[in-house]
Amino acid sequence: MNVPPPGRLLDMACRCCGARQVELVIDLGDQPHCNRLVRPDLAPGLEPHYPLRVGFCRDCTMVQIDHTIPKESMFTDYPYVSGTTTTLPAHFAATSRRMATAYGLGPADLVVDIGSNDGTWLKQYAPFGCRVLGVEAAGNVARIAQDSGIPTWHRFFNEDCARDILKEHGPAKAVTAAGVFFHLEELHSVVRGIEALLAEDGVFVVQAIYLGGMVENTAFDQVYHEHLCYYTLRSLSALLERHGLEIFEADLVDIHGGSIEAHVARRGARPVGESVRRMQAEEARKGFGEIATYRAFARNVLALRDRLLALLQDYRARGRSVWAYGAPAKGTTLLNSFGIGPDLVQKAVEKNPLKIGLAVPGVRIPIEAEEGQRPDAYLVLAWNFIEEFLKKEADWLASGGEFIVPIPKVQVIGASGTAGAAR
Ligand SMILES: [Zn+2]
Repeated sequence: MNVPPPGRLLDMACRCCGARQVELVIDLGDQPHCNRLVRPDLAPGLEPHYPLRVGFCRDCTMVQIDHTIPKESMFTDYPYVSGTTTTLPAHFAATSRRMATAYGLGPADLVVDIGSNDGTWLKQYAPFGCRVLGVEAAGNVARIAQDSGIPTWHRFFNEDCARDILKEHGPAKAVTAAGVFFHLEELHSVVRGIEALLAEDGVFVVQAIYLGGMVENTAFDQVYHEHLCYYTLRSLSALLERHGLEIFEADLVDIHGGSIEAHVARRGARPVGESVRRMQAEEARKGFGEIATYRAFARNVLALRDRLLALLQDYRARGRSVWAYGAPAKGTTLLNSFGIGPDLVQKAVEKNPLKIGLAVPGVRIPIEAEEGQRPDAYLVLAWNFIEEFLKKEADWLASGGEFIVPIPKVQVIGASGTAGAAR
């Protein structure tokens, strides 16, 4: 990975506004597709690698990557299942309750979830009796949802798909999209589809990783090929406004290490709330529309790399074992960007059966089932779930185990429960 000198443009048109004014901020190097886990016996280097570069559009402020892996090769067979943590279902339940109350969702109403995964969110509407429909591109995950009784179409959501839903089910009172809105190769077709599908008084609720949080947490590991765009309120508004939609409520929520939740309606259909003006002012104050902010972010990533490598090398020098606690997609970015392989982190342990027996692509760290054995320390790649892990592993930590948390800053959490010094 490297940080280029200021002023170098990427050879691309901005995914949102089309301007050829996208400045390279950080180059994470050629990397494999983060969720394409490989068989451990595949010869080294045989998995395809693609450029992973982050740019900032000087015109519309959209932060984005330039290289697109075709969606068909990324999302047809997908190892991420929402229901494997306890944090997400609880979060979705709370959001559904808020929506049902605020927008009066009832048995006559249709709720469509884009990128519905295993149906975790749609299940939360059962108490309100809504009709629900999921749209999920990964066949294996769509089947999990169907088998658990959530009606799910196995296809990519875009304008054509929206018109088919409209024909079959009528307009939607609510359309939701969580953790997928940055994946969209057909960005403008998807937003046109949402606009077409919404009832006149319908609401679109979108949750996406918040770029402001990424910057403040140095969470560069949210950058991977599936995430084409990284939103602030300002850049998300710019995209939606191009298609006659308007954000009327915006908030930050504590999932995926910090996400933006925006409530969107047809332009002028609902009064724009104070929350939108507040966040706009906050973003301006923090410089989230300025290139200098992203140059500083890139320098912070380099500093974080140096600290984490020094710490892991110290564990190795002292003969202490380190395993990765889980193998999330963001971990693939961190490990490959920093060049952390089995010499520093011997294995990753997982409870997702779709990942066990495979290896992290690129750096080739083997993924094994969580069993009785324990290392001296776990590297916590899914650092956004640290609170859940601290509770779950309280006994192990009390008996001398350690968590190495890489982000937002490198720290060791041990028996005392307090953070150790970062090196
Ligand atoms: Zn732009």
